[in-house]
Amino acid sequence: MTLHVWQVPLRTRFRGLTVREGALIRGTDDDGRACWGEWSPFVEYEPGVAEPWLRCAEEAAAGRWPAPVRDGVPVNVTVPAVGPEQAHAIVSAGGCRTAKVKVAEPGQSLADDQARLEAVRDALGPGGGVRIDANGAWSADEAVARLPVLDRAAGGLEYAEQPCASVEELAAVRRRVFVPIAADESIRRAADPYRVRDLEAADVAVLKVQPLGGVEACLRIADDIGLPVVVSSALESSVGIAAGVALAAALPSLPYACGLATVQLFTADVCTDPLLPIDGVLPVRRPVVDEAALAGWAAPPGRAAWWADRLAAVRALGQDHRS
Ligand SMILES: [Mg+2]
Repeated sequence: MTLHVWQVPLRTRFRGLTVREGALIRGTDDDGRACWGEWSPFVEYEPGVAEPWLRCAEEAAAGRWPAPVRDGVPVNVTVPAVGPEQAHAIVSAGGCRTAKVKVAEPGQSLADDQARLEAVRDALGPGGGVRIDANGAWSADEAVARLPVLDRAAGGLEYAEQPCASVEELAAVRRRVFVPIAADESIRRAADPYRVRDLEAADVAVLKVQPLGGVEACLRIADDIGLPVVVSSALESSVGIAAGVALAAALPSLPYACGLATVQLFTADVCTDPLLPIDGVLPVRRPVVDEAALAGWAAPPGRAAWWADRLAAVRALGQDHRS
């Protein structure tokens, strides 16, 4: 299997990264058509963590995605921890009916979060959806004190994503506030969604296809846990985003907008027709890989060799499992 390793600069620093690096693999579906899959586990991940990401890429490259039940996937615009004027502008320009607003930024106050949420509601109007993401920053008591305040500022929150770091804290907060709770960072491995379910820690599960082993694996998880799912990206190129879109398109029910509008964080894409939202909706389709662009964004040979070694290490894990 040939890895096509790429590096694309990001528009702004995200998750500590200024450049996103990943690999594409090429396969064929049952009708012999070329299909591409993305394998882009973050570089610090050990082989055991990177393994389900590879299953997702192989599933995509084999064209093994379930039939969609919808032809568009609503997505949210993401509002970073900026001031109210900028927040208003981002939402107005985004064209989305749902906004995910970052809160609990270090060095900022509750008043900063309130002002940002008021501006977002003003920009969206009464019909839009507003959700917040604290990325696990609060203690349970802080979350319980702040969520009702932020719910009022937002004119009603759809949910609060990962208000606290641990599953136990999410469960405790959920029992003490009326704002629905979503688990994001608490779901990173295939066993995690079951733990969230068993502890009744969330009202919504944020699922990412690569870390959880692909579209079919996520559909099974969604069915097992019985929670509404929000499909989110792992900061992928359009090839990786297409797998998230395939999951969102195949879920029997999709009550919330998804977090898949992240190709716009890249300065360039490896596809001729990037998966970007139109009026807040992503089309359900496979983007066409632009082989010239893929070659143009090819990682230096040293990085390509590093990815080849990584692939060998992940494959060796599989052999250990079989023996
Ligand atoms: Mg999140």
